[in-house]
Amino acid sequence: MVLRGTNQEKARPYNRRIVLECIRNGGPATRGEIASRVGLTVQTVSTIVRELEDQAYLLSVREQPKGRGLPPTTLHLNPNGGYAIGISVTPLGVDAALMNLAGEMLGSVARSCPHPSPSQAFDLIGQLVGEMRALRQDGRILGVGLAMPGPFDVQSMSFVGPTTLDGWSDVPVRARLEEVSNLPAFIAVDTVAAALGVRLYGEGAGISQFYYLHFGVGLGGTMMQDGVPIRGAWGNAGEIGHVPIMPGGRPCPCGNVGCLERYLSLDSFSQRPSGQSQEAWVQEVTPIFHSAIRIIENLFDPQAIVLGGIAPADLIDQLVATADVLPTSISSRYDRTTPRLIASAGRQSVLHGAAALAVSGVLSPRQDLTPTTDRVRKRDPFSNGMAA
Ligand SMILES: [Zn+2]
Repeated sequence: MVLRGTNQEKARPYNRRIVLECIRNGGPATRGEIASRVGLTVQTVSTIVRELEDQAYLLSVREQPKGRGLPPTTLHLNPNGGYAIGISVTPLGVDAALMNLAGEMLGSVARSCPHPSPSQAFDLIGQLVGEMRALRQDGRILGVGLAMPGPFDVQSMSFVGPTTLDGWSDVPVRARLEEVSNLPAFIAVDTVAAALGVRLYGEGAGISQFYYLHFGVGLGGTMMQDGVPIRGAWGNAGEIGHVPIMPGGRPCPCGNVGCLERYLSLDSFSQRPSGQSQEAWVQEVTPIFHSAIRIIENLFDPQAIVLGGIAPADLIDQLVATADVLPTSISSRYDRTTPRLIASAGRQSVLHGAAALAVSGVLSPRQDLTPTTDRVRKRDPFSNGMAA
């Protein structure tokens, strides 16, 4: 899905975003290629490209000559044209990372702080933002993105439990984040951030329709459709952890019984009977895991399910290995080019995605992934001095 520009002079700020987004998503391109992709004239694109080069967002690279004639110039993102800070708050603590425009992680830090209260978390975030900024003192920091466990703002369920954060329900998270960081701030549910990270920089890079299953302290997930997360009315779509899987099963802090994440999550893993090995646990939960896979496949028809999260890599790998023999679903096809289940190696997907939220939030013409209750008014980085 490519957004189109508009050939009206007053639309130039929008068109700048369109051109930048075209290169961010589609990779390096010539002026002519950009023009045909976004529906602008080559003349307009050339003007915009010159501005973006002046602002150091883009670099012109002369390709190697292949035959006679002058080789074309392609436009690349300038990796150091901007930086973003990604933050992840979990029931285990607060993590932060600094990412450049090319998606490279330039540094990260993790602070343990079990079940942080909002004030504990924002104190830590303030410190960590300072540490990350110090890694590129003269760099243009575009913004900060924060990921935290969902579901967001669910009123009929208390969701006070080991997999969620207690005391956060009425906190103006985005405003507090902006206050402690002094940067444009963006927030999303951790699964949405991680899915975005996997899509932009991980195993989902070549897959336009995938479901990202996030194995964290709890269990969550997000369907990525054409590279964009399906959000639902309140931003909680795909929240698989509270799907009832076991009638009369284990009680869940959400108020129901037999929820999937009572069986399949780091929290349930940590509560396995003492002496039970990891392998034995995986064997025990395999039928439940396979039911979850079929539910996801039958609901969303993804090309693949990508399993990632903050679980140890060998646990993710053992779960993915059980998919050698999967029960049938609408996803059992002979014409598959990807496996039904893929392991995501990147434990930093959440941070990657959180930082990408800030880049998209500031530079992209669309894509506000902030939950509907806490939307931010878009600033223009090309006119408010950030791009100076
Ligand atoms: Zn539940």
